[in-house]
Parts: sequence; structure tokens; C-alpha cells
Amino acid sequence: MIDPTTINPLALPSIVTENQTLNLSQSCVYCNSRCGSELEHFIPRAWGGTDKNSNLLWACSECNLSKSNHHPGKWYKAQPFCCPSRWESILVSTGLTEDEIDALQPTVCPKYVDLSPYWTDDKQLSIQKAKDKTGLDKRTLSAAKKGQLDRGQFETLYKLRDLASELAGRPLSLEEIFRDDD
Ligand SMILES: [Zn+2]
Repeated sequence: MIDPTTINPLALPSIVTENQTLNLSQSCVYCNSRCGSELEHFIPRAWGGTDKNSNLLWACSECNLSKSNHHPGKWYKAQPFCCPSRWESILVSTGLTEDEIDALQPTVCPKYVDLSPYWTDDKQLSIQKAKDKTGLDKRTLSAAKKGQLDRGQFETLYKLRDLASELAGRPLSLEEIFRDDD
């Protein structure tokens, strides 16, 4: 049984959705209304959002509908109820930085992850070493090294970006590890 008092009110585990007995009355993370709370994807699936707890926030049905597949940051900042401290707490509960949200791209873009400009032979980083470093599987890593990895889950993309940043010796944005499909 889940103790509701131990749960981050902004990011409830998805298991709660299956446990109707909890019957928590959640206010909307965006507008603070208490009407019709539902779990919504902070980063929409169409922008690469996952079903992980950190990406699921309680929102009222009105906000959920209005937000839909819009860029989460641009949508929130265009709302009349936009509030900087509230936005800050949303960022904390999703574990995302402002830069990461700015860098979001719709996943319908035909782009590949390409670490080949950074992961050069002179870096002497084997797939095995990269696996130990990132926890990613070898197939993902060797595809990314060759520029043949389809865009995937954000957790994977961030790990690959961090790896590329280390190789490049400077912080890279997600954009810099993507390659257009042409
Ligand atoms: Zn709302």
C-alpha cells in the first residue's frame, strides 16, 4: 500500500493511477485548479516524452487538453496563470533544466543520433568502456558511434549527450548530437 504522504505531490508513481482506492485530490500543477485531475505527460509523447514517473504530472482536464502536443515550456509561459516559482517546482519534479526543455524537438523529425564527430578513434574509447561509463547497451552505443541510432528515449539521449560532451571537452546540446536524415 502506498502512503500518500511520502509521495512527491507533483510526480506520483504511475502505479497510483491503477490504485483507485487512494482517491487523492490533486490540484493542477499548472493552474492550481482542483477540477478533474488526470496524469498527463509533461513532455508529450510526440516530443519524445516517456511514461516514467518524472514525466507524469497531475493536471486538470482543461490544461491537459489545452497543452496537448504543444512544447511544454512555450505552452506554460503563454498561459495567464504562468508563475515563475511554480515553473521552477515543475522543473525540479521533472528533473529537467530550462536548457533541456528548450532543446526539445518533435520526435516526428527524421533525425539520427550521431556521435561520430566526437567519438573519434584517437579518443581510444571502446564500446565496452562506454558501456561501463553510461550503462547503455552495446548495440545502442555502436549505432550512435556510427550515426545510425534512431532517436529514442530521452534518458538515453541525455546519456549519449553527456558522453559526447565528455569526448568533445565542452557541454553539448542535444541538437549537436542529432543529424538530419539526408
Ligand atoms: Zn489546470
